Amino acid sequence: MIKFLIMKKKYTFTFIVTLILFVAGCGVVKTSPFGETSFIFIPTSQEVALGRQAAREIEKREKLCRDPVVNGYVAWVGNKIAAVCDRHDITYHYKVIESDELNAFALPGGWVYVYTGLLKKLRNEAELAFVLGHETGHIVGRHAIRRLQLVYGINFLLSLTLRGKDLGPAEQKIIEVLYTLVVSGYSRKEELEADAMGAYYAGKAGWNPVASIETIKLLDSLMKFKPSGVTELFMDHPTNKKRIENLNYWISTFRKEWLKNPFNEERYREKVLRRLGVGNLEGRKGDNHSGSRGAKGSRRAS
Ligand SMILES: [Zn+2]
Repeated sequence: MIKFLIMKKKYTFTFIVTLILFVAGCGVVKTSPFGETSFIFIPTSQEVALGRQAAREIEKREKLCRDPVVNGYVAWVGNKIAAVCDRHDITYHYKVIESDELNAFALPGGWVYVYTGLLKKLRNEAELAFVLGHETGHIVGRHAIRRLQLVYGINFLLSLTLRGKDLGPAEQKIIEVLYTLVVSGYSRKEELEADAMGAYYAGKAGWNPVASIETIKLLDSLMKFKPSGVTELFMDHPTNKKRIENLNYWISTFRKEWLKNPFNEERYREKVLRRLGVGNLEGRKGDNHSGSRGAKGSRRAS
Protein backbone atom coordinates (compact mmCIF):
# COMPACT_ATOMS: atom_id res chain seq x y z
CA MET A 1 0.00 0.00 0.00
CA ILE A 2 2.74 2.37 0.99
CA LYS A 3 4.65 1.38 -2.09
CA PHE A 4 1.58 2.02 -4.19
CA LEU A 5 1.14 5.46 -2.67
CA ILE A 6 4.76 6.35 -3.30
CA MET A 7 4.47 5.21 -6.85
CA LYS A 8 1.31 7.16 -7.30
CA LYS A 9 3.03 10.22 -5.90
CA LYS A 10 5.94 9.64 -8.25
CA TYR A 11 3.62 9.43 -11.24
CA THR A 12 1.76 12.54 -10.16
CA PHE A 13 5.10 14.33 -9.83
CA THR A 14 6.19 13.15 -13.27
CA PHE A 15 2.88 14.24 -14.71
CA ILE A 16 3.20 17.70 -13.16
CA VAL A 17 6.79 18.10 -14.33
CA THR A 18 5.78 17.01 -17.84
CA LEU A 19 2.91 19.47 -17.79
CA ILE A 20 5.17 22.31 -16.62
CA LEU A 21 7.72 21.46 -19.30
CA PHE A 22 5.01 21.38 -21.91
CA VAL A 23 3.52 24.70 -20.84
CA ALA A 24 6.96 26.34 -20.52
CA GLY A 25 7.89 25.28 -24.02
CA CYS A 26 10.64 22.83 -23.15
CA GLY A 27 11.01 19.17 -23.88
CA VAL A 28 12.44 17.81 -27.11
CA VAL A 29 13.62 20.74 -29.21
CA LYS A 30 15.34 21.08 -32.56
CA THR A 31 18.95 22.04 -31.90
CA SER A 32 20.36 22.34 -35.43
CA PRO A 33 19.23 22.74 -39.02
CA PHE A 34 20.56 19.24 -39.74
CA GLY A 35 17.97 17.29 -37.77
CA GLU A 36 19.51 17.12 -34.28
CA THR A 37 17.18 17.31 -31.31
CA SER A 38 17.78 17.42 -27.60
CA PHE A 39 15.77 17.15 -24.41
CA ILE A 40 15.84 20.50 -22.63
CA PHE A 41 14.51 20.66 -19.06
CA ILE A 42 15.17 24.32 -18.40
CA PRO A 43 12.34 26.56 -19.60
CA THR A 44 13.29 29.30 -22.05
CA SER A 45 12.33 31.96 -19.49
CA GLN A 46 14.92 30.61 -17.03
CA GLU A 47 17.56 30.33 -19.77
CA VAL A 48 16.92 33.96 -20.76
CA ALA A 49 17.09 35.09 -17.10
CA LEU A 50 20.45 33.35 -16.74
CA GLY A 51 21.77 34.84 -19.99
CA ARG A 52 20.56 38.33 -19.07
CA GLN A 53 22.24 38.15 -15.68
CA ALA A 54 25.51 36.93 -17.22
CA ALA A 55 25.29 39.70 -19.86
CA ARG A 56 24.90 42.26 -17.07
CA GLU A 57 28.00 40.94 -15.30
CA ILE A 58 30.02 40.93 -18.52
CA GLU A 59 29.01 44.46 -19.42
CA LYS A 60 30.12 45.57 -15.95
CA ARG A 61 33.65 44.24 -16.47
CA GLU A 62 34.12 44.79 -20.20
CA LYS A 63 34.06 48.03 -22.14
CA LEU A 64 31.51 48.03 -24.94
CA CYS A 65 32.37 49.61 -28.29
CA ARG A 66 30.92 53.10 -28.58
CA ASP A 67 31.02 53.48 -32.34
CA PRO A 68 27.38 53.51 -33.48
CA VAL A 69 28.30 52.52 -37.04
CA VAL A 70 30.24 49.42 -35.98
CA ASN A 71 27.59 48.47 -33.40
CA GLY A 72 24.73 48.98 -35.84
CA TYR A 73 26.47 47.02 -38.58
CA VAL A 74 27.33 44.02 -36.36
CA ALA A 75 23.73 43.97 -35.07
CA TRP A 76 22.42 44.18 -38.64
CA VAL A 77 24.52 41.20 -39.81
CA GLY A 78 23.63 39.31 -36.62
CA ASN A 79 19.92 39.90 -37.00
CA LYS A 80 20.02 38.58 -40.56
CA ILE A 81 21.57 35.39 -39.17
CA ALA A 82 19.00 35.26 -36.36
CA ALA A 83 16.16 35.60 -38.89
CA VAL A 84 17.19 32.41 -40.71
CA CYS A 85 18.29 30.36 -37.70
CA ASP A 86 16.32 27.51 -36.14
CA ARG A 87 15.39 29.18 -32.90
CA HIS A 88 12.79 31.93 -32.70
CA ASP A 89 11.59 31.80 -29.08
CA ILE A 90 14.15 34.39 -27.91
CA THR A 91 15.44 37.86 -28.82
CA TYR A 92 19.01 38.00 -30.09
CA HIS A 93 21.46 40.73 -29.05
CA TYR A 94 24.67 41.19 -31.04
CA LYS A 95 27.19 43.42 -29.26
CA VAL A 96 30.79 44.55 -29.65
CA ILE A 97 33.40 44.56 -26.86
CA GLU A 98 36.29 46.98 -27.11
CA SER A 99 39.31 44.73 -26.57
CA ASP A 100 42.25 43.42 -28.57
CA GLU A 101 41.32 39.82 -27.87
CA LEU A 102 40.63 37.64 -30.87
CA ASN A 103 37.39 36.30 -29.58
CA ALA A 104 33.64 36.09 -29.74
CA PHE A 105 31.22 34.21 -27.50
CA ALA A 106 27.56 33.52 -26.93
CA LEU A 107 25.50 33.39 -23.75
CA PRO A 108 22.40 31.25 -23.38
CA GLY A 109 19.17 33.07 -24.14
CA GLY A 110 20.44 35.09 -27.11
CA TRP A 111 23.43 37.31 -26.25
CA VAL A 112 26.38 37.29 -28.65
CA TYR A 113 29.56 39.33 -28.14
CA VAL A 114 32.39 39.91 -30.59
CA TYR A 115 35.65 41.69 -29.71
CA THR A 116 37.07 44.56 -31.77
CA GLY A 117 40.40 42.66 -31.82
CA LEU A 118 38.72 40.00 -33.95
CA LEU A 119 36.73 42.47 -36.07
CA LYS A 120 40.01 44.17 -37.04
CA LYS A 121 41.42 40.89 -38.39
CA LEU A 122 38.39 39.74 -40.40
CA ARG A 123 38.38 40.74 -44.06
CA ASN A 124 34.80 40.84 -45.19
CA GLU A 125 31.14 40.70 -44.19
CA ALA A 126 30.80 36.97 -45.01
CA GLU A 127 33.52 36.16 -42.44
CA LEU A 128 31.69 38.24 -39.84
CA ALA A 129 28.45 36.45 -40.77
CA PHE A 130 30.17 33.10 -40.21
CA VAL A 131 31.55 34.17 -36.80
CA LEU A 132 28.12 35.42 -35.68
CA GLY A 133 26.53 32.32 -37.20
CA HIS A 134 28.92 30.06 -35.25
CA GLU A 135 28.02 31.83 -32.00
CA THR A 136 24.31 31.79 -32.82
CA GLY A 137 24.77 28.06 -33.47
CA HIS A 138 25.88 27.58 -29.85
CA ILE A 139 22.61 29.21 -28.73
CA VAL A 140 20.44 27.21 -31.15
CA GLY A 141 22.30 24.05 -30.10
CA ARG A 142 21.69 24.96 -26.41
CA HIS A 143 25.32 23.99 -25.82
CA ALA A 144 25.80 25.97 -22.60
CA ILE A 145 22.42 25.15 -21.11
CA ARG A 146 22.80 21.45 -21.90
CA ARG A 147 26.16 21.41 -20.13
CA LEU A 148 24.77 23.24 -17.09
CA GLN A 149 21.73 20.98 -16.83
CA LEU A 150 24.02 17.96 -17.00
CA VAL A 151 26.51 19.18 -14.40
CA TYR A 152 24.23 21.00 -11.95
CA GLY A 153 20.89 19.33 -12.49
CA ILE A 154 17.52 20.78 -13.31
CA ASN A 155 16.44 21.50 -9.73
CA PHE A 156 19.46 23.62 -9.00
CA LEU A 157 19.08 25.64 -12.19
CA LEU A 158 15.39 26.16 -11.58
CA SER A 159 16.08 27.32 -8.03
CA LEU A 160 18.16 30.28 -9.20
CA THR A 161 16.22 33.51 -8.87
CA LEU A 162 18.59 35.71 -10.93
CA ARG A 163 17.07 38.99 -9.94
CA GLY A 164 19.12 42.10 -10.64
CA LYS A 165 21.97 43.26 -8.46
CA ASP A 166 21.81 41.14 -5.34
CA LEU A 167 22.94 37.75 -6.46
CA GLY A 168 23.25 34.96 -3.92
CA PRO A 169 26.41 32.84 -3.80
CA ALA A 170 24.79 30.12 -5.93
CA GLU A 171 23.86 32.61 -8.63
CA GLN A 172 27.29 34.19 -8.59
CA LYS A 173 28.96 30.82 -8.92
CA ILE A 174 26.84 29.71 -11.85
CA ILE A 175 27.52 32.99 -13.70
CA GLU A 176 31.28 32.43 -13.23
CA VAL A 177 31.06 28.84 -14.45
CA LEU A 178 28.99 29.93 -17.42
CA TYR A 179 31.42 32.73 -18.28
CA THR A 180 34.41 30.37 -18.22
CA LEU A 181 32.53 27.86 -20.35
CA VAL A 182 31.40 30.26 -23.06
CA VAL A 183 34.67 32.19 -23.28
CA SER A 184 36.97 29.18 -23.38
CA GLY A 185 34.97 27.05 -25.81
CA TYR A 186 33.00 23.85 -25.89
CA SER A 187 33.66 20.23 -26.75
CA ARG A 188 35.06 19.15 -30.08
CA LYS A 189 31.67 17.90 -31.24
CA GLU A 190 29.91 21.12 -30.26
CA GLU A 191 32.51 23.29 -31.99
CA LEU A 192 32.22 21.30 -35.22
CA GLU A 193 28.44 21.56 -35.02
CA ALA A 194 28.62 25.33 -34.44
CA ASP A 195 30.98 25.66 -37.44
CA ALA A 196 28.55 23.81 -39.69
CA MET A 197 25.66 25.92 -38.44
CA GLY A 198 27.68 29.14 -38.87
CA ALA A 199 28.44 28.32 -42.51
CA TYR A 200 24.84 27.18 -43.11
CA TYR A 201 23.21 30.28 -41.62
CA ALA A 202 25.68 32.60 -43.40
CA GLY A 203 24.80 30.93 -46.72
CA LYS A 204 21.07 30.92 -46.03
CA ALA A 205 21.15 34.61 -45.06
CA GLY A 206 22.87 35.53 -48.34
CA TRP A 207 26.64 35.36 -47.77
CA ASN A 208 29.17 33.00 -49.26
CA PRO A 209 29.59 30.03 -46.88
CA VAL A 210 33.15 29.47 -48.11
CA ALA A 211 34.07 32.44 -45.90
CA SER A 212 33.85 29.95 -43.01
CA ILE A 213 36.88 28.02 -44.31
CA GLU A 214 38.78 31.23 -44.94
CA THR A 215 38.03 32.38 -41.39
CA ILE A 216 39.40 29.14 -39.91
CA LYS A 217 42.53 29.46 -42.06
CA LEU A 218 42.94 33.05 -40.92
CA LEU A 219 42.49 32.03 -37.29
CA ASP A 220 45.00 29.26 -37.79
CA SER A 221 47.62 31.73 -38.99
CA LEU A 222 46.79 34.12 -36.13
CA MET A 223 47.04 31.29 -33.60
CA LYS A 224 50.60 30.58 -34.63
CA PHE A 225 51.39 34.20 -34.15
CA LYS A 226 49.57 34.80 -30.88
CA PRO A 227 48.42 31.55 -29.27
CA SER A 228 47.58 33.07 -25.90
CA GLY A 229 45.09 35.54 -27.35
CA VAL A 230 43.12 32.86 -29.09
CA THR A 231 40.11 31.52 -27.25
CA GLU A 232 36.52 30.31 -27.88
CA LEU A 233 36.49 30.58 -31.64
CA PHE A 234 40.04 29.67 -32.36
CA MET A 235 41.08 27.12 -29.87
CA ASP A 236 42.95 24.27 -31.46
CA HIS A 237 40.62 21.48 -30.48
CA PRO A 238 39.21 20.23 -32.71
CA THR A 239 42.25 20.85 -34.89
CA ASN A 240 41.86 23.42 -37.60
CA LYS A 241 42.52 20.71 -40.19
CA LYS A 242 39.51 18.79 -38.85
CA ARG A 243 37.42 21.96 -38.80
CA ILE A 244 38.22 22.67 -42.45
CA GLU A 245 37.42 19.08 -43.46
CA ASN A 246 34.14 19.31 -41.57
CA LEU A 247 33.25 22.61 -43.26
CA ASN A 248 34.17 21.30 -46.70
CA TYR A 249 31.86 18.35 -46.16
CA TRP A 250 28.92 20.46 -44.98
CA ILE A 251 29.34 23.11 -47.67
CA SER A 252 29.21 20.35 -50.30
CA THR A 253 25.72 19.50 -48.99
CA PHE A 254 24.40 23.10 -49.11
CA ARG A 255 22.53 24.66 -52.03
CA LYS A 256 24.92 25.27 -54.90
CA GLU A 257 23.62 28.82 -55.49
CA TRP A 258 25.02 29.86 -52.12
CA LEU A 259 28.52 29.51 -53.56
CA LYS A 260 27.73 32.50 -55.74
CA ASN A 261 26.75 34.63 -52.74
CA PRO A 262 28.98 37.65 -52.08
CA PHE A 263 31.69 38.24 -49.47
CA ASN A 264 31.13 42.03 -49.36
CA GLU A 265 34.61 43.32 -48.59
CA GLU A 266 33.92 46.91 -49.51
CA ARG A 267 31.10 47.35 -47.04
CA TYR A 268 33.07 45.60 -44.29
CA ARG A 269 35.99 47.94 -44.89
CA GLU A 270 33.78 50.97 -44.72
CA LYS A 271 31.62 49.94 -41.74
CA VAL A 272 34.27 48.23 -39.60
CA LEU A 273 37.90 48.50 -40.66
CA ARG A 274 37.98 52.22 -41.35
CA ARG A 275 35.91 52.95 -38.25
CA LEU A 276 38.27 50.92 -36.07
CA GLY A 277 41.28 52.65 -37.60
CA VAL A 278 42.77 49.66 -39.39
CA GLY A 279 45.29 51.19 -41.76
CA ASN A 280 46.96 49.84 -44.87
CA LEU A 281 43.81 48.01 -45.97
CA GLU A 282 45.13 47.33 -49.45
CA GLY A 283 48.09 45.36 -48.14
CA ARG A 284 46.03 42.94 -46.02
CA LYS A 285 46.44 39.30 -46.81
CA GLY A 286 43.46 37.61 -48.44
CA ASP A 287 41.66 40.81 -49.26
CA ASN A 288 40.92 39.93 -52.84
CA HIS A 289 37.90 37.68 -52.62
CA SER A 290 35.56 37.33 -55.49
CA GLY A 291 32.52 35.19 -56.17
CA SER A 292 34.61 32.77 -58.22
CA ARG A 293 36.58 31.69 -55.17
CA GLY A 294 33.44 29.95 -54.00
CA ALA A 295 33.76 27.01 -56.36
CA LYS A 296 37.40 26.48 -55.48
CA GLY A 297 36.78 26.48 -51.76
CA SER A 298 33.82 24.16 -51.99
CA ARG A 299 35.74 21.06 -52.96
CA ARG A 300 34.60 17.99 -51.14
CA ALA A 301 36.55 16.54 -48.29
CA SER A 302 38.00 13.24 -49.40
ZN1 LIG B 1 32.46 27.98 -30.57
